[in-house]
Amino acid sequence: MSSINAFLLQHNLRIATNPCVSPDFCLDWPALRAELVAGKPPKVYPKSRFETKQGIWLLGENEHGDCAWRLDGPGAKPDVLDDGVALSSGAVAFPATFSNLLRLKNLVQEHNPASTIFPTATEQLGRSTLGVGARFTTLHWPAVEWVMSALSLGVTANQNSIPRELVYDTDVMLAGQLDTVPFPFIGTNVPEGHQGQSVEGMSHGCILSKLKTGFHRRGIAWSFNADHQPIGGKFDSREDQLVTGCVLASYITFDLSPELAQTKVADDAAGWVKANVPAELVAQVKARVAKAGLTINEADFAKLVAYVWPSFQKMKVRYEKYSAARAKLFATAVGRAFLSELSIDELPGLTTSETTAIMLAFCEALGMKIHFVAPAFGFQKNMPYPDNAALRTLIEKQWAVCKQFGASIGFHSGSGKSAENYQVMGQVTGSRLEIKTSGRYTYEMGRALFASTNVADQALWRDWYKFTLELALLGSFSADATEQKMARIFVTDALAKSGKGTEVFANPIVTRAALEALPASPEHMFWFEYNFLHVLAAGGRAQKAALGDHTAAGYRQRARFYAISDEGRLNFSKNIATYIVFLAENTGLATAATCAAARTLLARYTTLDQMLDDISK
Ligand SMILES: [Zn+2]
Repeated sequence: MSSINAFLLQHNLRIATNPCVSPDFCLDWPALRAELVAGKPPKVYPKSRFETKQGIWLLGENEHGDCAWRLDGPGAKPDVLDDGVALSSGAVAFPATFSNLLRLKNLVQEHNPASTIFPTATEQLGRSTLGVGARFTTLHWPAVEWVMSALSLGVTANQNSIPRELVYDTDVMLAGQLDTVPFPFIGTNVPEGHQGQSVEGMSHGCILSKLKTGFHRRGIAWSFNADHQPIGGKFDSREDQLVTGCVLASYITFDLSPELAQTKVADDAAGWVKANVPAELVAQVKARVAKAGLTINEADFAKLVAYVWPSFQKMKVRYEKYSAARAKLFATAVGRAFLSELSIDELPGLTTSETTAIMLAFCEALGMKIHFVAPAFGFQKNMPYPDNAALRTLIEKQWAVCKQFGASIGFHSGSGKSAENYQVMGQVTGSRLEIKTSGRYTYEMGRALFASTNVADQALWRDWYKFTLELALLGSFSADATEQKMARIFVTDALAKSGKGTEVFANPIVTRAALEALPASPEHMFWFEYNFLHVLAAGGRAQKAALGDHTAAGYRQRARFYAISDEGRLNFSKNIATYIVFLAENTGLATAATCAAARTLLARYTTLDQMLDDISK
């Protein structure tokens, strides 16, 4: 048994209330196998049915959330996957392990290359999409499946930053050796993987979700984005683990910032370029940029190339590793293909057209197809862009370049913009874009619990709110200048928007009194900013040392979210669906009529089952 499965079983952290931590979707195969052999069938998902050459497959699950594949048909042999067991009915069953999932992917795609059970990299997904961060995994995906089905629109239905939000290696996690991520606004570092799920567990879960709801029957291709894959810098030592973990992702975002952060540009940049970058490549890039209609300033060009060349060399190595890992494991072209995004919004300042052109020309010359490029537009997370005319001009300049390289524009920090902002993005690019959203959905969970009449949902909401209030209070009097400044901005914003006085920082007692006088609300900025860290805070405690806790204490806290009521889940699902429909309409990815019909349907649902039943149509 793997260390992670032993750990989870030892602490009774089962998949039903702590999904996607282990790469496997079966922690205890001996127990599930015994149930199956004894003819005590687990719950079977009838809509999960699909075919391969070997026969008909169905997904089953017991009360702990352990899953098994059941194969019926003439080719039903116990060695089709690992650890098979023959059942008296003539069928065979297999544990839903990660290694079995990889084998199953080949069986499925060899039989039907157009299958939409697994995430893929279709041409359409590489042109226009919405990036939907799945902070709450199994609670989240069914709503995304509902939207894709209702709009007949495939999107990036699974997305998270790795290793920032997801655990990249559960053995490293169990050894207590995960690196940390600085959060200056909290004045501390939090362990990576602060949402608790592993990249493989998340990869596994998003596929099983499609089968449980029968989404795969709709034939709508969807993608899974391994977001902000860090290139170079301190990540060199574990790039092979990053590659292996992301093997089911059909879409990779390359983030050069770790390497850029440690690159020192030589004083004589031109001389350095001459000595270090192949002249032929430089000439090719210059010619391509000129062909795109841009004039190169030699000095600026040399400086940029000297700055980015070490990153590009590492990006090329990584790109080849992603390709090789897929070629090794997957037998079909559709199974091996992946989309690529180049994130350059981490470079200093607003991105110029010249920079975008040079970056894309380098990728092209190095044989890396880029589907999306993410320039910096000066977006603040969760804040509308204040000037639509200025935004239009900025995007027009970038689009003039991107379209010549066949690349769509990725809008990072895309949550919380105005409808008009999204319209501008869609109009200028002809909907050749991706809007990345993630934090928005944690907010939607807060709204869902806040609105729920269920007693346990309300208790979780109150604890969650209190957690952020306490962090805001601590931060407001922190000795760390950034932390204090940010906390006071969040507190002041909440007070001002509630029509209260904002001169409350004389001492902590005054601040506490002011905050406690506010009615609890998911609209308060301090709740919004601190909320995501409650998920894995040991004991739910508002203490820096409790954040991102990958011991049993952190996972017991996480389990509270996965135990919310059906009413809470329905609220959450409707909120997610409503937001994605809003994005699809304003960016022009779906027509107003289609979106209106989807909204009408959504308003009708009074139970979660009604909503989920409609996914497969
Ligand atoms: Zn980015």
